[in-house]
This record gives sequence, structure tokens and C-alpha cells, in this order.
Amino acid sequence: MSEGSHQRVALVTGGSRGLGRAMAIRLAGAGHRLVVNYASNADAAEKVVAGIEEKGGEAIAVQADVSQGEQVERLFEEAGERLGPVAVLVNNAGVTRDRLLLRMSAADFDHVIDTNLKSTFLCTKAALRGMLRAKWGRVISIASVAGLVGNAGQANYGASKAGMIGFSKSVAKEVGSRGITVNVVAPGFVATDLTADLVDKAKEVAEGRISLGRFGTPEEIAAVVAFLASDEAAYMTGQVISVDGGLAL
Ligand code: NAP
Repeated sequence: MSEGSHQRVALVTGGSRGLGRAMAIRLAGAGHRLVVNYASNADAAEKVVAGIEEKGGEAIAVQADVSQGEQVERLFEEAGERLGPVAVLVNNAGVTRDRLLLRMSAADFDHVIDTNLKSTFLCTKAALRGMLRAKWGRVISIASVAGLVGNAGQANYGASKAGMIGFSKSVAKEVGSRGITVNVVAPGFVATDLTADLVDKAKEVAEGRISLGRFGTPEEIAAVVAFLASDEAAYMTGQVISVDGGLAL
């Protein structure tokens, strides 16, 4: 375990797969005790926990649909009882329901907004109570390049991610004086289950638009999250850090 994180509790929403999994592992490696939240994939979440424990870390898996207020309350209660108050929150859980706007149903819109944006509101609010008491906290939300420059077929997703940015900047202003920083990481394309459906042609087109010429890895996103969670990042708040290989340049 490295020094510096003082065994703080970090909660990663959607920590069972993809980017969240890499973030949970990376934060545990930096000495945090981990709450690995998941929606339905208990096996995957337990695997992340087992991997962390094998390396001498401490972690628990907690199921909760973070778009639901009561489930978020239960998530933070359980985290507090079993590990202690959450000092680092990573709002990572996210979904897509891509369709051109004229074919997008209100249900597709609501589902994406609730899972990506409302969850960020619910979890940040729940985490802030303990952070205010501790006079220290880190809130890191995972947006997307789609929230910065838009993407055809992703009006719901782009709106949710742009919403996370406005939300984070506002909360950063509310809690800055209390030792709590609130930042956003905006990844470009990363190979996970979320992008697995992209057909080869679409992948080629995407890669052609990335300055670095390739998709990112979950670990490359996790490294930036770990920095923002650290003491070293104490003077950064309300920022959006693009980790996209130059896609949005
Ligand atoms: P992923 O591989 O599909 O994993 C999604 C994670 O979110 C899973 O752990 C899933 O849990 C969890 N989740 C989904 N709905 C949830 C809910 N209602 N409550 C709690 N957890 C929920 O996705 P990913 O690619 O790692 O994406 C992670 C984040 O990065 C998302 O916010 C996404 O928008 C953002 N992002 C990804 C990319 C990319 O290229 N991959 C690019 C930009 C931004 P279960 O395992 O239980 O289903």
C-alpha cells in the first residue's frame, strides 16, 4: 500500500466492469478502501473485490441502482457501516441508448438522464454530508467527449454528460471553502462493453479522428481519476479533464 491516501474510503459507482473496475483497482492500489457499486453483475463486482483483497487491499461490493434515491441512501448507509464515511466519490456508472433524435423515445431519454445525471446528483448529495464533516472530499464524475462536442445519435447521452459538467462546476463553487474538490473527467473512446457494439467500420472512423490514433485503455482513465483523488490535486476544482487522445481537439 502506498502512503498518502490514509486508508480513505473511495466509492466507485459501476465499479464492476470497464472504466469503473480499473478505477477501483487503481484507487485500492493507492491505499483506499473500496466500495465497488454495481447494478446487477454481482459476479463481476465480487471478482474486482477478490482481486483487490489478493493484493492486500480492502473492498466490498454493494448492489444499488444509483438512479434510485432509496437505493443510493442504502448504498451510502452500508458503505458507512462497513468501511466508514466516503471520502472519494467517483460517479462513473453510465449507460447509452443511442438513436437519432426523431426515433428516440422519452423512455430512452429518461433512462440515460436518470442513470448518468440524476445518479450523480443523488450520490454526490449523499457523499457530501460525510465530506463536509471531515472537511475533506473528492468528487470525480465521468462525463464524455459527447458532453463537450456532442455526437449524432447521442442527444440523451450528450445531454446527460453536459449536465454532469454544469452540475459539477456549480457544486465545486458551493463546497470549495470546505476542502472538497469537484472535478470531471471526459474520456474519449475506450474499449469496454459500452463501446463493444461499435461495428468495425465505426471503430475505424473513430480511430481516424483521434490524434493519437487509437482507443484509450481503462487504466489510462483510471490514472487521471487517481490523481484527482489524491492530496496532490488539492488546488484543482470545477475542472473538466479530457482524456481522449486528442479526439476533441
Ligand atoms: P460499461 O463497461 O458498460 O460498465 C458500466 C458500469 O456501470 C457497470 O459496472 C454497470 O454495472 C454500471 N451501471 C450501469 N447502470 C447502473 C446503475 N443504474 N446503477 C449502478 N451501476 C450501474 O461502461 P464503461 O465504458 O466502463 O463506462 C463507464 C463510464 O465512462 C460511463 O459513465 C460512460 O458514459 C463513461 N464513458 C465511457 C467511454 C468509453 O469509451 N467506454 C467514453 C466516455 C465516457 P453492472 O456490471 O452491474 O451492469
